Amino acid sequence: MRVLAMLDGSLADPDRPLLRADDLGVQRGDGVFETVLVVDGRPRKLDAHLERLARSAALLDLPEPDRAAWRRCAAAACAAWDGPPEMVLKLVLTRGVDGTGVPTAFALGTPVPELVLRQRREGVRVLALDRGYEAGTGERAPWLLIGAKSLSYATNMAAQRYARAHDADDVLFVSSDGWVLEAATASVVVAHGSVLRTPPATAGLLPGTTQQQLFEAAEEAGWVTKVEPLRLDDVLSADGAWLVSSVRQLALIRSVDGRPLRASTHDATLRELLRL
Ligand code: PLP
Repeated sequence: MRVLAMLDGSLADPDRPLLRADDLGVQRGDGVFETVLVVDGRPRKLDAHLERLARSAALLDLPEPDRAAWRRCAAAACAAWDGPPEMVLKLVLTRGVDGTGVPTAFALGTPVPELVLRQRREGVRVLALDRGYEAGTGERAPWLLIGAKSLSYATNMAAQRYARAHDADDVLFVSSDGWVLEAATASVVVAHGSVLRTPPATAGLLPGTTQQQLFEAAEEAGWVTKVEPLRLDDVLSADGAWLVSSVRQLALIRSVDGRPLRASTHDATLRELLRL
């Protein structure tokens, strides 16, 4: 079950070829994307995703995305979906065919992968891996596109494969100077008592829309939230640590480098805060 919608709101056949071989999204990973969770036909926090799509596009000097058109496109995909209640909707915007200056834009809806559903239920074992740059590198080297959700995810996927080849489910990226960053496709949130913490974007990571949603709901429910640098010891000593992202939502971190974390009493509460 898959649906494909173009930016003008028309539907296309997801089984037919769509991209030209010289599209720069294919040739160089030159483009940006968002992954939106749709539940019962309604995209979750679409505004926050479109906001980040615009920020990512600006970092790559792509034309500003037309938000009304993207809403129309997402609505067309949601209306055409007759699969399970949850759909993964990937919004893709590439620089288009070399020399034309016309971006390629589409939204592809697919079911939530079984692996992701399992990680929501069972949690994840992570391997802490060096990201290869120091915290703060993004500000010194904006061409690395560290805060952009660019299509160039090959290194993230390579790190994930490395983790899986070494008896873990996912990677926990750490900067070369020892600061916790994020996972391959998720933010990291830790709890100490009733304080939730996540590292700042300036450390060199993608600001997460789900982490932000979680923190807003948590604050309303009386938690203290802090966006501040974290060390690996802060994760190891936590009363709960999670990978947090739009589709996976919350996956409890069970171990880091094979060292088990304390069982968390907060997991159910955080799930309620995200209305899981
Ligand atoms: N960090 C990275 C590198 C990601 O790819 C993602 C999402 O895919 C996230 C964090 C979490 O972002 P969000 O909660 O907006 O899905």
